Amino acid sequence: MQGLMMDMPLLISDLIKHADRNHGDTEIVSKTVEGSIHRYTYHDAHARARRLANALQALGVKNSDRVGTLAWNGYRHYELYYAVSGIGGVINTLNPRLFPEQITYISNHAENTALFFELTFVPLVEKLAPLLKAVKHFVLMTDRAHMPAATAIPNLQCYEDLVAQQDDRFEWPSFDERTAAALCYTSGTTGNPKGVLFSHRSTVIHALAAAMPDTLNLSARDSILPVVPMFHANAWSLPYACTMVGAKMVFPGPHLDGKSVYDLIEQEKVTLSAGVPTVWLMLLQHLSSNKLKFSTLKRTVIGGSACPPAMIRAFQDDYGVGVFHAWGMTEMSPLGTVGSLKAKQAALGKEERYAIQAKQGRGIFGVEMKIVDEEGKELPWDGKRFGNLLVKGPWITSAYLKGEGGDPLINGWFPTGDVATIDADGYLQITDRSKDVIKSGGEWISSIDLENIAVAHPAIQEAAVIGIAHPKWDERPIVVAIKKAGQEVSKAALLKFYEGKVAKWSMPEDVVFVTELPHTATGKLSKLTLRQQMKDYKLP
Ligand code: AMP
Repeated sequence: MQGLMMDMPLLISDLIKHADRNHGDTEIVSKTVEGSIHRYTYHDAHARARRLANALQALGVKNSDRVGTLAWNGYRHYELYYAVSGIGGVINTLNPRLFPEQITYISNHAENTALFFELTFVPLVEKLAPLLKAVKHFVLMTDRAHMPAATAIPNLQCYEDLVAQQDDRFEWPSFDERTAAALCYTSGTTGNPKGVLFSHRSTVIHALAAAMPDTLNLSARDSILPVVPMFHANAWSLPYACTMVGAKMVFPGPHLDGKSVYDLIEQEKVTLSAGVPTVWLMLLQHLSSNKLKFSTLKRTVIGGSACPPAMIRAFQDDYGVGVFHAWGMTEMSPLGTVGSLKAKQAALGKEERYAIQAKQGRGIFGVEMKIVDEEGKELPWDGKRFGNLLVKGPWITSAYLKGEGGDPLINGWFPTGDVATIDADGYLQITDRSKDVIKSGGEWISSIDLENIAVAHPAIQEAAVIGIAHPKWDERPIVVAIKKAGQEVSKAALLKFYEGKVAKWSMPEDVVFVTELPHTATGKLSKLTLRQQMKDYKLP
């Protein structure tokens, strides 16, 4: 017997229709590349997304056509999210921090037929334009007044002109919810980046899950600042999930330094923000050097790489901001786990609660997880045994675009490439990326654990731990660290700081102080680059 409920497709356009109807006067605020603050409402955003939909169709963008973007978090990028997917096209959010050759590779692989980009990227696009084979339309996301007088970009069009020329009458089409909506390439530390293709169905279900109280806890009473870029795994669903719940949205544009982020949080009464630890490091530094406090910020979501316990402590103890530590990956749309406490844990002592929060969180409904040993045998959830982490669920990749890399699944499970433990309460703890774990004397040492200890030292700003080849032990860990401005600590003192905190055999062998650490295009420590930089290093 079949159920008798309406069979309606889950479509991204329904999110903005809903926000317009129910939260029409709620604001979307953007700090722009041009430097101004732009404000409008969900009602305005929807009207402009419909004009843009007409404009895209006038340009000849058809069902399934890919449209590339090189843009920061802002209202025009938001309009593209809805207009491109809404007409049945696929938005390919390109990461401008990648090398130009990688951007070219991705855009050509995606076969983008149009490229929308912001003023920041005019010089980049001037260089790339001749190489972007499929692109027929180059559109600069600005108004007439900011259009360059002369440019090497062929037939450069102005976004505001395109939108102004169109009518806002447009009916969002209905189609199969499994239709592709967005395309994001993985960071690709080895080989070429691979395309992760999200559908309308996966995006809407993922947004529903993202909004739930134990996930990101989003509501119409929130003012939300996605610091995580819209070109990094859909800004962790915020442009969709905020629209779903009718939260005020605040976009920072390219202004991600501590002062800009702080000022925006205060001005726009932000209650929740989300980003990678590197960005929060800059914000916390700005707060402590200027003796500032937050007046409205209540919660922050930290993920993308491990959030050091010292950062959780700083946010919660010094500034009264609750931390949600989250784990996920582009292939998972990206949310996998989020750390929020259960009722029975609320009564625990502070240190025990903080220890739970330092883990990467519990699986949300929609994400099944398991850990397996090298032979693929499932391991128990005891918080001790660690193994390769596999996942499955309706917003997890089943294959990469054009079948690149072959079938990624193992008996229907997606191997994450992460090594983790899961405890009896379902809390996941990432030991490492399997490529970064340090193999010493047949044991595995977590580089994340050793980094967390280093940054808990009051004189350390940032630290990376990598394995160095060793004739007897295979690999031994070393710490590469940056000192805080005006602070001193010796190698010996930092090594001593590890005593009693880790087993003897996993103590770092050495400390190297540097003034800068390499990061990837998504703001994570780049161990790959660091290992190359340290290739001539010799253990003492
Ligand atoms: P990306 O697809 O670029 O977002 O990278 C996903 C990878 O980032 C994951 O497979 C993890 O290795 C890492 N990652 C994300 N969040 C965390 C976290 N909270 N703690 C540790 N690693 C993380």
